[in-house]
Amino acid sequence: MKIIVLDGYTENPGDLSWEGFASLGELTVYDRTPHDDAAVSKRIGDAEIVITNKTPVSAKTLDICKSVKYIGVLATGYNIVDVGAAKERGIVVTNIPTYGTAAVAQLAITHILTYCHHVSEHSAAVFAGDWCACPDYSFWNYPLIELADKTLGIIGFGRIGQAAARIAGALGMKVLAYDAYISESAKALAEYVSLDELLAQSDFISLHCPLLPSTEGIINKASIEKMKQGVVIINTSRGPLINEQDLYDALESGKVAHAGLDVLSSEPPKPENVLFNAKNCLITPHIAWAPLESRRRLMGVAVNNLESFLKGAPVNTVDA
Ligand code: NAD
Repeated sequence: MKIIVLDGYTENPGDLSWEGFASLGELTVYDRTPHDDAAVSKRIGDAEIVITNKTPVSAKTLDICKSVKYIGVLATGYNIVDVGAAKERGIVVTNIPTYGTAAVAQLAITHILTYCHHVSEHSAAVFAGDWCACPDYSFWNYPLIELADKTLGIIGFGRIGQAAARIAGALGMKVLAYDAYISESAKALAEYVSLDELLAQSDFISLHCPLLPSTEGIINKASIEKMKQGVVIINTSRGPLINEQDLYDALESGKVAHAGLDVLSSEPPKPENVLFNAKNCLITPHIAWAPLESRRRLMGVAVNNLESFLKGAPVNTVDA
């Protein structure tokens, strides 16, 4: 049985092992596959098992590659697979429902802490000789911010949002949450409020909802106007949650004091992305999911998904 990994590099750039998959069939791993049907179907050929992270598997590809029986997505989001077309053809699609909750929450809080202390800028100033030349024993080039008693508003209070709330609580922050659904157990971690209340009361706003038609552009000119002057916006969820031109304008005007982003509207981004010219904006290259511990967990779940499918009892299946 042939197993094709279409784009293995980001999951395993060399610090993990594909042995789990290799033990289940005849494995071929491609680092990357161009995102077009012809290239994808050529790579899949007559394989039964397809593993993909971000390479699209379309209905057209499935029409060409009639041997495919299983598509394992190496991620939580599975919008790159035409799941409806797979279902029509009796193909099982699985995902990794959770693997990086702690790591994503950690990066969201890291973006907040980075802003509060400007660690790299201060270190760069020290290495440039500014401390040695300073008449005092201490200096700072930016306002330093204590988080205790500041308000963090979390939009999307699921696994990652709640993990971020636990850390924020430990820092003494007051946590507000807005979610389309209220979880009784999560009430201990935050005060649920309306979106408008969250926007109006938060010093920091962190996005943890999925990208859906109802959440696309949730941060835009109108919602930013409802926020406090000097608010800080963190996005480790999905780039299109933010209207980037509107955020740029708000960073320029100072309405938004700082943005910490791990995701952009297109990835990899285009050089002309408006936020590359924004002031007070830090951008990390979609790294929240990627600590070794999280990727190792992801690999383990992905192998177990395939193993379960082969035993006739699929787990973590997704539907259209
Ligand atoms: P989750 O499903 O546990 O939580 C999402 C929450 O959003 C749920 O509570 C849901 O009710 C809520 N929600 C849905 N629609 C909403 C709406 N219209 N308004 C407000 N809330 C709404 O998911 P999770 O594991 O916490 O992951 C959250 C997001 O983090 C994912 O959707 C993904 O986009 C992102 N993520 C990013 C990375 C990264 O590397 N940067 C890694 C993993 C996940």
